[in-house]
Amino acid sequence: MIPFLDLRAAYAELKEEIDAAMGRVAASGWYVLGAEVAAFEQEFAAYSGTKHCVGLANGLEALELVLRAWDIGAGDEVIVPSSTYIATWLAVSASGARPVPVEPDVRTANLDPERVAAALTPRTKAILPVHLYGQPADMDPIMALASRHGLKVLEDVAQAQGARYKGRRTGALAHAGAFSFFPTKNIGALGDAGAVTTDDDRLADRLRTLRNYGSKVKYVNIEAGVNSRLDELQAAILRAKLPVLDAWNDRRRALAARYQQALVGVGIVEAPYVPQWADPAWHLFTVRCPNRRRVTEVLDAAKVGWLIHYPIPPHLQQAYASLGGKRGDQPLAEQIADSILSLPISPHMPAAHVDTIVDALRRAA
Ligand SMILES: *Cc1c(COP(=O)(O)O)cnc(C)c1O
Repeated sequence: MIPFLDLRAAYAELKEEIDAAMGRVAASGWYVLGAEVAAFEQEFAAYSGTKHCVGLANGLEALELVLRAWDIGAGDEVIVPSSTYIATWLAVSASGARPVPVEPDVRTANLDPERVAAALTPRTKAILPVHLYGQPADMDPIMALASRHGLKVLEDVAQAQGARYKGRRTGALAHAGAFSFFPTKNIGALGDAGAVTTDDDRLADRLRTLRNYGSKVKYVNIEAGVNSRLDELQAAILRAKLPVLDAWNDRRRALAARYQQALVGVGIVEAPYVPQWADPAWHLFTVRCPNRRRVTEVLDAAKVGWLIHYPIPPHLQQAYASLGGKRGDQPLAEQIADSILSLPISPHMPAAHVDTIVDALRRAA
């Protein structure tokens, strides 16, 4: 049996550090917005190469609060990928703005900068590229376009902690980067957690206010904020895990390289395409399958875990029925949803599992 992901292995490797972190917080008597969050914010900003990091409750609210802090809302449009996890779209809807889908470069599943230009209208206020599966989006042309049109750019870095684009870290490539530390992400908390990275002093300050009921001074509320704070407990756990993020990503890279090599000539799946400027964080190892049912049957028979990221693109979800999306509207996103398949990859998976999985696929081919 090869599970898709076993989070117990991540805890087992860092048990001493994580237990110590949890004990420290429990004994401190201070559980919300304290020394651990402040220290994690500093450490994660340094890791990302940005001036600020603001700890928040989860990745969805990290995205949403940046849009709110930029005063984006009703009547505005935000460019989003047609092929992404629905949270990217939900953050835009929650702000009151309208998500405007743009089709991907079908090879990477990431936003296609040339198609973004064609989707801009006088209502467009921001572009929200996603580094899907841990593969950096092509940011330089997106930033150039945004600068020509006076638009904000927010990176969705939920799946790409530690990835690099042309040598630069994701989360430091635009006006802000929104992170999720959901347990399955490359650096995950033991619960929900999120953050925003930015060089913008005003944005960081406004996010600190928004996350805490719109208050900077206790019981003085300057705007109608929310409760979206990163817990001390989760911050302390993330501090225990941050020092190993790069090493754990290197293990993912080694597994991805092994898959890439082994999959050459295995006809029933197509290995992921990686542009030459990309250094992915390999959050997921996604292959394309012309006949996905056959591949999942083979994997099931070999007792190998697999998932589909994602089976229904946002424009076809019932949640977005009000936007009137129908099949055929976003053909590339639909093609990806119909053929994509994620194989197991994680820092704690033995390399031999890659061989077992590829052998099973080769026998079936
Ligand atoms: C996980 C994820 C989010 C949402 O993060 P949460 O912390 O679960 O709210 C947003 N965007 C993408 C691409 C994600 O993978």
